[in-house]
Amino acid sequence: MTGLNRHPAGLPIQEDDAFIARALCDLSAPTLMMSLIHMSGDASLLDGPIKPKACLLNEVQGFFSEAEQAAVRAQALDVIRRYRDNGSLLPPPPTPGTIHRMMNFLAAAEVPESYLPLMLEEMELAGGDARAFEWQAEVPEKQRQRFHVLVIGCGMSGLLAAIRLGQAGIPYTVIEKNPGVGGTWYENRYPGCRVDVGNHFYCYSFEPNNEWSEFFAQQPELKRYFDACATKYGVREHIRFETEVIAARWHEPAGRWAVRVRDQSGHEETLVSNALISAVGQLNRARFPEIPGRERFTGPSMHSSNWRSDVAWRGRRVAVIGTGASAFQIVPTIAPEAAQVTVFQRSAQWMFPNPNYHAKVGPGKKWALQHLPYYARWYRFYLFWPGCDGGLPAMRVDPEWPHPERSVSAANEAARVTFSNYLREQVGDDPALLEKVIPDYVCLGKRTLQDNGSWLAALRRENVELVSEAVSEIREHELCCEDGRSYPADLIVYATGFHANRFLWPMEIQGRGGTSLREQWGDEPSALLGITAPNFPNLFCVYGPGTNLAHAGSIIFHSECQVRYILGCLRALLEGGYKAIECRRKAHDEYNERIQDELSHMVWSHDSIRSSWYRNEKGRVTVLSPWPLRDYWEWTREPKLDDFTLS
Ligand code: NAP
Repeated sequence: MTGLNRHPAGLPIQEDDAFIARALCDLSAPTLMMSLIHMSGDASLLDGPIKPKACLLNEVQGFFSEAEQAAVRAQALDVIRRYRDNGSLLPPPPTPGTIHRMMNFLAAAEVPESYLPLMLEEMELAGGDARAFEWQAEVPEKQRQRFHVLVIGCGMSGLLAAIRLGQAGIPYTVIEKNPGVGGTWYENRYPGCRVDVGNHFYCYSFEPNNEWSEFFAQQPELKRYFDACATKYGVREHIRFETEVIAARWHEPAGRWAVRVRDQSGHEETLVSNALISAVGQLNRARFPEIPGRERFTGPSMHSSNWRSDVAWRGRRVAVIGTGASAFQIVPTIAPEAAQVTVFQRSAQWMFPNPNYHAKVGPGKKWALQHLPYYARWYRFYLFWPGCDGGLPAMRVDPEWPHPERSVSAANEAARVTFSNYLREQVGDDPALLEKVIPDYVCLGKRTLQDNGSWLAALRRENVELVSEAVSEIREHELCCEDGRSYPADLIVYATGFHANRFLWPMEIQGRGGTSLREQWGDEPSALLGITAPNFPNLFCVYGPGTNLAHAGSIIFHSECQVRYILGCLRALLEGGYKAIECRRKAHDEYNERIQDELSHMVWSHDSIRSSWYRNEKGRVTVLSPWPLRDYWEWTREPKLDDFTLS
């Protein structure tokens, strides 16, 4: 895995002027300016006439005109040439004050002081790993070796937990139900599957990858990344593949978890561990719609997350039920080669333009990420900052807002107008289609999709039909709708989402005194910071209740916060010579009250939303975090031991 974790100063530059001039054409001009400051030691660029005019997600040219970009490139060629000819030696680094001004420059606004520690940690300008685990007091090797942690799941977050446990020297085993690493990126193999968070940010902070082939990589490349990380950090030999945790029970006197696992052959056994980390994700138990006659269909059918490579779809009539993030990627990909695609939509989706969504990372960009000092680090900032907390106000309900039937605030209304115009620009000439694709619920109320025009272009194809009637019945060869029309199909794809609200389901977890986690949580799972719950000592969740992000960031960032916190809990346990750490009921309940109160003021709870995986049966939001990333980062830097009992 070349290119991972390079020092941010980059490799020495040896390329000639013509090569460099070509490479510069690929680059984000504002990010390039940051690298020039590192190379030249001259920060006067920050005061020059060329400045980003605004900072928007996925807009990495700062709204520079062509002429401004050309001027930056010309200046860059000069600076890079001098830096190269000087043996790629860097002047003294910019001062903290200059770094802050550089952030303000890219953000086209003042980055508040309170955000600096978070952003500096995320950028890792020193090339280290600020989130790495450190012991605070000595825990003898022997004591550590007697401790054992079991991690459930080896997706992005389980792998991360394993890496950190390994670095702490704490023995661990990972139980993974699949034959490979990657979790969601192992399972979801449907045509067109790709990430929708910029990849140069969607990777571990300590394991940046300068070689992504696309800005939003497809599933095989993501899987390769996680595979490479598992190998590099020696996690693989700790994983029991094709094994599922079916139950776990806390044994009070021993202070241990007894974990029942079952392998592919059906063989069951009980493993014992001191602590249990659940990293099972929120989106891995497929949800099928309850449509009468589903079992009568004679052709093949599959859930989007369980795509069958043995099923032919090319040249066939494919019915796709659902229009969420998965369908949004499947339909445009299969439409050109399927005979017919019938898309059954229950709700239309809000989407926003991202022209780079399917774009390749050019060779110049890859070269710059590897060679131009700190370019990769500032590029990460440029992806993270506009996706950080700036979007939160548009998600918050303004009680004074006079148009609550269509939006929740002025910022939310502005997003609604922009996104509606974007839809109109594409299909304004087809009023029937336009009516179907303009959502009838508040903007940003559900997951907003990234789009490069491919969704609506697919829906306009001759061989694609968007049906906005509910499917009332499925028969041997067709799907029938409430309006009496029926649609023949050779194959059904259920892109109908997941049981997101059933955390840790279908495992049976019993905590102190035999308390069942399922009963304790019911339909409203809750945990302190989404990580730990009373009655369940030494049990921790990564990506648990109330931690999905709908407004910002990436789940990798959030998981890094949670894993740091969990390791902090384990450190308290081991350094204090304790057996058990358990979240206090009071701390949990107060947090839960706060998060529920906050969530009730957010757009995701708006009445116009009839269905959403963000909500439970009663309409309460249980899966999302409403918190600014900065606050959550601060709260999870280390556990407040007052929130726990240690015994
Ligand atoms: P989803 O967002 O829950 O979408 C499910 C779709 O199925 C919705 O359109 C839903 O309609 C529809 N549906 C559900 N039950 C139905 C029924 N009985 N009849 C008709 N339609 C029905 O699921 P998803 O698309 O798999 O995405 C889930 C999440 O996974 C995403 O929000 C995202 O967080 C993640 N994801 C990410 C990516 C990415 O990063 N690129 C890709 C895929 C998924 P309603 O809207 O009316 O409920």
